[in-house]
Amino acid sequence: MHHEISKGLFDMFPMEDKTDFYSAYLYMKYADHFLHQGALSMGMAGREPKRKIDEALVEMIKFHIQEISEVGMSRETNVYHGKLVRTKDASQLVSQKGDLTLPLSESVVPFKLARDVILKNPESIAVGTCPCRMVSGNPCLPEPMEVCMFVGEPFASFIAEQNPYYRKTTQEEAVHIIETTHKQGCVHSAFFKKDMGNRFYAICNCCKCCCLGVKIWNMTGGSYPYFTASGYVSTVDASKCDGCGICADDLCPFNAISLDEEANIAVIDFEKCLGCGVCDSICPTGALQLRREPAKGEPLDIQALK
Ligand code: SF4
Ligand code: SF4
Ligand code: SF4
Repeated sequence: MHHEISKGLFDMFPMEDKTDFYSAYLYMKYADHFLHQGALSMGMAGREPKRKIDEALVEMIKFHIQEISEVGMSRETNVYHGKLVRTKDASQLVSQKGDLTLPLSESVVPFKLARDVILKNPESIAVGTCPCRMVSGNPCLPEPMEVCMFVGEPFASFIAEQNPYYRKTTQEEAVHIIETTHKQGCVHSAFFKKDMGNRFYAICNCCKCCCLGVKIWNMTGGSYPYFTASGYVSTVDASKCDGCGICADDLCPFNAISLDEEANIAVIDFEKCLGCGVCDSICPTGALQLRREPAKGEPLDIQALK
């Protein structure tokens, strides 16, 4: 059984990408160490992962991170990226019944590599303790922090078997996690990776305090282009905004909301807003709303794209 699941992962890669199997294996098996080394490579401190692994494995993980970052500066060559999705779109991705192959255009996922949704046995989902929060100095969620989800095969079975922090879950629980984390102010991202079969493989529910991806994005002002907007932006209805400032109080994961104190109104920075939807239901007067914005790409709404 043990080897069958690993062989399933190996078999997924076409001949020309067979060597990606080794990176996928390492990444899923040691996601906590991967995120820890990623943070160290950016000069961020954090907690050491609880489980110790061989130094040789750490060296391999460092090499893998270096490979990813070397090609990451351009959307032509980037191999590891996240498409922001609204709560509804994230829920659809974990509720699909039956296999689905949906090649996405660059207007949805504007990267040359790794942009297809290929769901094989999408009802097979693994959820695990978020590795970013595991290695963050002061994690924002209570234990067990199970908000990181691998969707479909061969990923879900592999990570549930090979990584002690992951377990199989149901589509209903996956939707529940997405809705709960939305209320906690988390961003949903659909992750795509070349080393994971050139396709979508995970839904993450991230915050700006622990998520390595969001932290690096904010630190570099988005100049390392591994996130792409949801296809929406947030807008303020001036007639409804009373300037209470709730939304401008460190809520936006990408620091796109401020308060114009003179005009007493919230202001959205169009460039910074990635349309994550975190602010969507937060305004007590209903002044903040997401609206479709073609300049922010096309949404990853699998029902509409089908
Ligand atoms: S990307 Fe998000 S959910 Fe995934 S491991 Fe990092 S913070 Fe956790
Ligand atoms: S929470 Fe609503 S009312 Fe308050 S500042 Fe923001 S948009 Fe305006
Ligand atoms: S302004 Fe709202 S929708 Fe835009 S990035 Fe911030 S929280 Fe997300």
